Amino acid sequence: MGRHYDVVIVGGGAIGCSIAYALTTEAGFRGTVLVIERDPTYQRASSALSASGIRQQFSAPVNIRISRYGIEFLRHAGELLACGDDRPPINVNEAGYLVLAPPEGLETLRRNHALQNSLGARIALLSPQELQLRFPWLATDDLGGGCLGLEGEGWLDGYLLLQAFRNKARANGAELLHDEVVGMDRGAGRIDALRLASGERIGAGMVINAAGPHARQVAAMAGVVLPVEARKRNVFVVSCAEAIPGCPLVCDDSGAWFRPEGAHFICGCAPDRSNDRENFDLEPDHAFFEQSVWPALAARVPAFAALRVTGAWAGHYETNTFDQNGIVGLHPEVRNFVLANGFSGHGLQQSPAVGRAVAELIAYGNYRTLDLSELCFERIAAGRPLSELGIY
Ligand SMILES: Cc1cc2nc3c(=O)[nH]c(=O)nc-3n(C[C@H](O)[C@H](O)[C@H](O)COP(=O)(O)OP(=O)(O)OC[C@H]3O[C@@H](n4cnc5c(N)ncnc54)[C@H](O)[C@@H]3O)c2cc1C
Repeated sequence: MGRHYDVVIVGGGAIGCSIAYALTTEAGFRGTVLVIERDPTYQRASSALSASGIRQQFSAPVNIRISRYGIEFLRHAGELLACGDDRPPINVNEAGYLVLAPPEGLETLRRNHALQNSLGARIALLSPQELQLRFPWLATDDLGGGCLGLEGEGWLDGYLLLQAFRNKARANGAELLHDEVVGMDRGAGRIDALRLASGERIGAGMVINAAGPHARQVAAMAGVVLPVEARKRNVFVVSCAEAIPGCPLVCDDSGAWFRPEGAHFICGCAPDRSNDRENFDLEPDHAFFEQSVWPALAARVPAFAALRVTGAWAGHYETNTFDQNGIVGLHPEVRNFVLANGFSGHGLQQSPAVGRAVAELIAYGNYRTLDLSELCFERIAAGRPLSELGIY
């Protein structure tokens, strides 16, 4: 066999590069790290095609803790990920998330609000009247209320975060290889080596699956069945003639969402579940905008009745079809295979915490900073879904 590394990470998106960075800064880890990425331009990677929202408003305590860790990291990312004097900008904008609920959703909103604040988030629960006062451009008549993040929520530049993790990991000694993993050689209860498209065979102490929407295919190379599918999500860029002052990232009860992006807005909508299947194409669906996104936006913000579409793109959620939450940790049978998959539309903001947690698992055999054991693979075989109501 040729080269051998202590840890080989398959996929160099935000998750893979965050793990590489965290390993190279983990005091208890002294090994070698290789990240294998088949497309270093990241044209199809979720991390480059994301809406890059960051929020505290989840309903599962483990996801809220991940967000608490994440925002602290992101606020200091300039220092933490600096290479020499070069402090990477990741453009964190804490303009908040506004999660709207119909009257019948108010009780759930109240429960989530109490839980989020008890875990250290600062979320305000606003009545329709309070929403109207604060956001005069919003139609509130049909709402039961809304929750607004007062800090720690908003958006960032996901592509710059990915690059910052990548550059820092490399500066710290991790190696990056432009190649594609096409197969794995399995020994008894472990992966012995990875086979690459170039023909090279690389030995690995630990193998990490960080292949985003392609995680199921990579897991299958190790003989592991992983319930992760690529689900297409459209993002539309629109301009609006009227000013929408103080606009946060708004998650409407219709499933539509929007937020400012420079002088424009970006927006989208959760698809109809019956129509949401694995799909690797990247062509934005303009009919979907006309039929689903625009009507919902114009109903919630009357000024959006006159918006203009100026651009669009599509990317893929790496949807965990079992319970739409991350799957993180060692595989119970393939003992040197670590999963960091299935984040289902919230993986960018979870990348700092997942990176640190996986690095600790590899260095010490257990979690230290954040206990992510609820995200374990075993819950799937046991049929124990992790309930999370805040999936958009
Ligand atoms: C439209 C859209 C909006 C989103 N909005 C948000 C949001 O608001 N907030 C949020 O937190 N998250 C959001 N997400 C989700 C977020 O972008 C993802 O969860 C996150 O980027 C996943 O990172 P990753 O590193 O796992 O995957 P990726 O960024 O896709 O990286 C995986 C990498 O693995 C490589 N790869 C795959 N197979 C192989 C192989 N066999 N060999 C070598 N390399 C391989 C790929 O080339 C790719 O670069 C959104 C996603 C989309 C598409």
